[in-house]
Amino acid sequence: MHERYGAEAGGHVLVAGGAGFIGSHLIDALLSEGARVTCLDSFRTGRRQNLAHLAREPRLDLIEADVTGLLPPLPRVGQVFNLACAASPPHYQADPLHTMMTSVMGTSRLLEHARVCGARFLQASTSEVYGDPERHPQEESYWGNVNPTGPRACYDEGKRAAETLTFDYARCHGLDVRVARIFNTYGPRMRADDGRVVSNVICQALAGDDITVYGDGRQTRSFCYVSDLVDGLMRLMARAETPDGPVNLGNPREMTVAELVDLVLRMTGSPSAIVRRPLPVDDPQRRRPDIGRAERLLGWAPRVALEQGLEATIAWFAREVAPRERARPE
Ligand code: NAD
Ligand code: UDP
Repeated sequence: MHERYGAEAGGHVLVAGGAGFIGSHLIDALLSEGARVTCLDSFRTGRRQNLAHLAREPRLDLIEADVTGLLPPLPRVGQVFNLACAASPPHYQADPLHTMMTSVMGTSRLLEHARVCGARFLQASTSEVYGDPERHPQEESYWGNVNPTGPRACYDEGKRAAETLTFDYARCHGLDVRVARIFNTYGPRMRADDGRVVSNVICQALAGDDITVYGDGRQTRSFCYVSDLVDGLMRLMARAETPDGPVNLGNPREMTVAELVDLVLRMTGSPSAIVRRPLPVDDPQRRRPDIGRAERLLGWAPRVALEQGLEATIAWFAREVAPRERARPE
């Protein structure tokens, strides 16, 4: 493997959720480092198209399965990345029972497979574990402010339970685990109908459709470009010493939704008008990662400026997504 990550050349890696937005970029990085990869995915929100460029890659295998059910025989691997879970609010709320079980049953099954293999395990957690945060910016020691019964709970509490399972496997079975708390990530291969703000705004701007701003647009997020995030995941997995607890991965540049919309409108030169829609229930007001831990433990910090990442993402949507496929949320 490449010196940067120091992982074993030819090592076999299982990526659950590998056909998704982040997972497919992770697989690209793992293959370019010399790994053999098995992708396990149900294709619920992921797409074969995300891996189509790897159709002739002999070091990639694809297993179609849902992690909430009994898993088919899986190969013996040295590393497991668990990214299987819908990440966009409209998608994870469409089938909340399945979302919760994906995090709980799915993580438990994948942890068990890692235990049997003696593999290192990385859980893709989320900034949503902080809920609507009362501490700002969010550092890993903050326990969060999650509504356990609201419409976002299937995702937030599912991910919190997955973190618990992961650290209990470390305590009970000595498993080598890593937990990445991922903050809003964007880039090519997001779905046009993903429903998240970056893909919605770009697709609406490109199509000349109205831009949907939920609430007054003063809520903030911090957007990380996908290559930076994948670099963080690879470093976290490759680190020889097991980190003592979760690690935030995200870009600390915070902005309001209104500022993001302005920027995309300027960059696309779009004539789109802005329309207001109701703020979704439990929508977090502010979010910005404290990445001090990732900097210290992994020597990691994002390198791609928002304007640069948006330019690549806008170009990708303009090229890859036919106008009829572009999102037109009501
Ligand atoms: P995505 O929806 O594009 O990818 C998720 C993948 O998991 C898809 O390929 C989907 O088909 C698969 N999947 C879902 N449920 C499954 C199941 N039950 N069995 C098997 N496969 C299943 O989302 P993404 O943005 O690539 O997110 C990847 C991971 O990162 C998720 O775990 C998500 O919670 C986490 N994350 C993402 C973000 C972000 O901003 N994108 C932020 C925080 C955390
Ligand atoms: N949002 C918006 N318009 C959209 C989609 C989302 O204003 O078309 C808002 C949403 O209410 C939230 C922010 O943008 O405040 C980020 O939403 P997203 O779904 O991208 O991520 P998450 O809420 O999971 O952080």
